[in-house]
Amino acid sequence: MSPTRQEIYGDGQLKGEPKYELNLGHLYGNLMNTYGDNGNVLMIKYIAEKLGSKVNFEIISLGDTFDENKYDIVFFGGGQDYEQRIISYDLPDKKESIGNYIENDGVLISICGGYQLLGQYFVEASGNRVEGLGVLPHYTLNQPTNRFIGDVVIENEETGEKYYGFENHQGRTFLGEGQKPLGKVLQGKGNNGEDGGEGMMYKNTIGSYFHGPILSSNSRLAYRMVITALKKKYGEEIELPSFEEVLGDEE
Ligand code: GLN
Repeated sequence: MSPTRQEIYGDGQLKGEPKYELNLGHLYGNLMNTYGDNGNVLMIKYIAEKLGSKVNFEIISLGDTFDENKYDIVFFGGGQDYEQRIISYDLPDKKESIGNYIENDGVLISICGGYQLLGQYFVEASGNRVEGLGVLPHYTLNQPTNRFIGDVVIENEETGEKYYGFENHQGRTFLGEGQKPLGKVLQGKGNNGEDGGEGMMYKNTIGSYFHGPILSSNSRLAYRMVITALKKKYGEEIELPSFEEVLGDEE
């Protein structure tokens, strides 16, 4: 029997009265779940609780409707070519709602296979082309006899923050108009091993090849995402504890 949502995430209850409540939508969480990426969800919960927010979780998978007005944070993790191909048949039904969510400044983090699937298409190692959601302009080519595997370090050009992770992908991703890399590659291969960029930023949506999971290894990025989600829901003016107050010793 497959585990229930409670068994995967815990009961999601905050001790004491929560001031806030966030709805987290986990795209294809039962299919896209490689390399501990689901730890990103636990990190979001950990930080949100420290900021006084309860988090409700929901997996949105094959045949489910994605309600663009329901979620405050969305996570789309990595997976293998096989699962990606299955998901690609389901994506057209969710294209409009996920596209609207992104355009309306929804907070979304996508990793590896999930990142690839938000784009136009990706090419499997075999050369087979798999259509993506097509809501963002990036696309992913293959490299038939090689993978990019190893530690990766990048620097975000807006904040100067450095992010640390581990990459393992054959796909080579190229960004399109309006997208910026999440960071400049200091170590490793990044999106494609050519242009020096890793990951993608568009509005409040992020893509990255970082496993690790990225948010557990890079708590400033995690804090930023949870804060953005809370302020979007409850207003820019809400007063939230600083990073140092909630996570200062855990960086
Ligand atoms: N199948 C994709 C690739 O290797 C994604 C891998 C992943 O999500 N870990 O490029």
